[in-house]
Amino acid sequence: MDNPLRALPKVHDLAHHADLEAHRKALGAKSFTQLTRSVVEQARQAIRSGTPPPAEAELLAQLKALARARIKSRPRAVINATGVILHTNLGRAPLPKESLESIAQLTAGYCSLEYDLVAGQRTRRGLAAETALAELVGAPDALVVNNNAAAVLLALSGLAAGREVLVSRGELIEIGGGFRIPEILARSGAKLVEVGTTNKTRLSDYQSAISEHTGCILRVHPSNFSVSGYTERPTLSELAALGKSHQVPVVKDLGGGLVYDLPKHNFPGKVPEPSAQQCLKAGVDLVCFSLDKLFGGPQGGAIVGNDDLVQKLRRDPLARALRVDKLTLAALQPVLDAHRAARDAQSTPSDDGQAPLESQACDSAALDSSKLDSLRQDHLPVLQLVNAPQEDLKRRAEAWCEALSAAPAGVRVEAANSAIGGGTLAEHPLPTYCLVVETKNPDGLSAMLRAQTPAVVARIHEGALWFDPRTVLPDQESTLLDALMQTLKRRLT
Ligand SMILES: *Cc1c(COP(=O)(O)O)cnc(C)c1O
Repeated sequence: MDNPLRALPKVHDLAHHADLEAHRKALGAKSFTQLTRSVVEQARQAIRSGTPPPAEAELLAQLKALARARIKSRPRAVINATGVILHTNLGRAPLPKESLESIAQLTAGYCSLEYDLVAGQRTRRGLAAETALAELVGAPDALVVNNNAAAVLLALSGLAAGREVLVSRGELIEIGGGFRIPEILARSGAKLVEVGTTNKTRLSDYQSAISEHTGCILRVHPSNFSVSGYTERPTLSELAALGKSHQVPVVKDLGGGLVYDLPKHNFPGKVPEPSAQQCLKAGVDLVCFSLDKLFGGPQGGAIVGNDDLVQKLRRDPLARALRVDKLTLAALQPVLDAHRAARDAQSTPSDDGQAPLESQACDSAALDSSKLDSLRQDHLPVLQLVNAPQEDLKRRAEAWCEALSAAPAGVRVEAANSAIGGGTLAEHPLPTYCLVVETKNPDGLSAMLRAQTPAVVARIHEGALWFDPRTVLPDQESTLLDALMQTLKRRLT
């Protein structure tokens, strides 16, 4: 009897099939041959277990699909129509154009990452950014690391490895993406001591848990989790005072990294999330927060506060493993400048009189005032998205609806809510207006839109596709509408 395995094409022949030329080029000859080998090997195993040999066309189709999937798995540009501003899966904060220019200027060649060009010798990486950050939040010192998870890990490890960390049971949470406070704590080498209950933790609970083994008290911002109703926990100031009286440092994992006041019109009443400054004023020793959430910068984590503690963490060997890259620092500087400019714009004349004089010593090239002018805080994309006035959002959604009026689908505008996302102000939806596209097959339409370049990601809700103008950047609008019109038309044919 004929060996059915003989019916399979040779790996080399299949990999060099004329129909696969484009796929082979896109992946590179070696990788494509590797992929072909795995497809043929799978077919061989299927034949051995009794399946009839696949037709060549079937193998070709399989290879094409695999090659396409591999190419598509590369990060691609996305138009975010979900209305979630800090969408972790979509890269959180969009960066200001000044950050992109800075990355291009500093990283295409070499840069003075940890080199003092005046003295001609080595200096500390991140020195300028950390000085600016400390000054911005009014802290004696600051440390920038790879993300906030790293910041919390470093703080706990540096202050409490081999010792105990007191955490309220109401704050032993998972923040998303697998960031679980108890697990990070375990990895830091510190021992978790749970105090209070899930809904009620009193100052006396902390007090009675403090001993000579206590390394620090950790207070965690609850992020996308909340306990409501019959709840109680001490204020941050009370906790800070307790720590001081026992000489136990208090660390606040703030998460979102607010360093400014959120616009009142979007957040009527009191904003429940304190700023880094407020935490420090309350007397907390260290505050950790993300730089790519409401701070509006690249991925990064900040530790701000007491200089002895920050310096101790900076010297910790773990800090070396968690240090930031030059791309991060290049992108971060303009964001820091923007926050500083906004703070200066708010400060009173008497504050200005006390402004540090060092800036006068800077060479004029570093003080391109036209550039500084353009770096206002309200130019940070994240803040523009948060601040977008409702009437603008409504006008844009209506214009989109109008532009698509000839499309073969039902379109309308509906009031809805955007979200800040990233576990930040989870309970504070931002009112918006969405373009709603009625379709028999929302999943199919959604998949077609995700296959566009740039990909379009919308929200499926009540069997329709919802497009929120809040997170669609102004220069993406026409691309979005073209993609949507063409996709809707294509579905008819
Ligand atoms: C987002 C968040 C983190 C994790 O921050 P990353 O920058 O994603 O590492 C930790 N704690 C809180 C409270 C958060 O909101």
